[in-house]
Amino acid sequence: MHSSKKVLLVFLPSESGVDGARSLYSENDNISILSCFNYSLRTIIKQSQFAIPPLSLMILSSIEMEGIEQSICDMRFEEFPFQKSWDLVGISVQTGMAKNAFALADTLRSLGISVVLGGPHVTLFAESCRPHADVLVLGEADDLWKKVLTDLTTGTLKHLYQSDSFPDLALSRPVMKTSLRKNRYFTTNLIQTGRGCQHSCDFCNVHVLNGHSLRRRAISDIVNEVVRFKMDDRRIFFFVDDSINADPIYALDLFRQLTPLKIRWFGQATTTLGQQHELLETFARSGCQALLVGIESIEATSRNAHKKNQNKAGELSLAIKTIRNAGISLYGSFIYGLDGDTLETPAAILDFISDTRLDVPGINILRPIPGTRVFERLREEGRLLFDPLDITAYRYTFGQEMLYSPKNIPLDAFIESYSSLTRKIFTIKKSIARGIEAPRSKPAVLLFNLFYTHLYNLSRHDLQQQLKRKPMEKTILPYDE
Ligand code: SF4
Repeated sequence: MHSSKKVLLVFLPSESGVDGARSLYSENDNISILSCFNYSLRTIIKQSQFAIPPLSLMILSSIEMEGIEQSICDMRFEEFPFQKSWDLVGISVQTGMAKNAFALADTLRSLGISVVLGGPHVTLFAESCRPHADVLVLGEADDLWKKVLTDLTTGTLKHLYQSDSFPDLALSRPVMKTSLRKNRYFTTNLIQTGRGCQHSCDFCNVHVLNGHSLRRRAISDIVNEVVRFKMDDRRIFFFVDDSINADPIYALDLFRQLTPLKIRWFGQATTTLGQQHELLETFARSGCQALLVGIESIEATSRNAHKKNQNKAGELSLAIKTIRNAGISLYGSFIYGLDGDTLETPAAILDFISDTRLDVPGINILRPIPGTRVFERLREEGRLLFDPLDITAYRYTFGQEMLYSPKNIPLDAFIESYSSLTRKIFTIKKSIARGIEAPRSKPAVLLFNLFYTHLYNLSRHDLQQQLKRKPMEKTILPYDE
């Protein structure tokens, strides 16, 4: 009798953020009060189950096949299990974590373990990944992973798996949670109703990776998944779609069918929801507690410069008030430092937050993600602060690092104004007030605001360190192809 092939799917932690607040600098210095505090808080954030499971690995580990045993290693919580023997290890690679992914892959391969690399970074930069992998999987892996597993069982693994088209999400593919350890996470009830985005915001890689047309799952599959998930985890549901209201007719049908199940849920939407009155009421009735909306900028020039065109700057405030009035708390995500922004922008953001009473404001710095149009443009304009060829330098942090020079504001003045903005928005007093005033999920709103008060402290600390350590003349000249 043949024993099963053991397959491990690995998810790596990011440098900072909700994986655990971490200064990019202080923990490399001598032990200090700040580094001890950061370490303690990082542990608290982890143990408060802020993290959500890696959905892509949940989907792949749900593929059942005779002769294959799959499990997940979430390295945000555990070490790599070197003591066990593995026939194949798949690592999900995000840009910014690529160095760590490559180091792990190299170690595993030196031990004779076959490694598959997949994920956004591999899809966009396959050639740079090739030296670190036995197998590359490019693009959405729903169908390709089945082929990899089949070839593993027959000993015919290929070096590359790639498809010309996106997977048909209308096919039934039940997602299982058996590989997850439930109490590690804020919730294990992650649901994706579709993929793709019809918009083209230039800082976003969703439309680059998942295409411009919306692909939807069958509503009956989603309803069945919700029923099944609810049986072993009664916590909140998270609809992970980038824009759950992108197809209002589909969303109306879906959430009407989910209403009798009496779940509580949160998700991500565009502010257009404020004009979709029937859908908004249905969301509220079906148990929607909170939504993340990408406001990005309230400056019309910035919205135009970055192709954020789905609604006009002047409509944002009314839309946000309408959604909150329907009883849904809002996390509003801004980016300060876009190409139309000036030193007047922070005051306008402060006014906007106080006018709309946003429950959790997220004040981000633009992160030029390699592979996006904005990355290419900043490279051509000579505004990237790190070597554009070292794409792993463009990591995710919690507003702790400037990766580019803003167009209209000198870098040091920008850092001062960004720091002053986050200092004004995030105080303990304001966090408590926002928690009390939130239409729903008051404890979660309070918790987010308190964590952000700390995280933006780290942001200010690290940006000052960057100013001291990286002279501004390090700006890279335009890349010559
Ligand atoms: S930012 Fe949102 S709306 Fe814009 S392209 Fe990305 S997913 Fe679509």
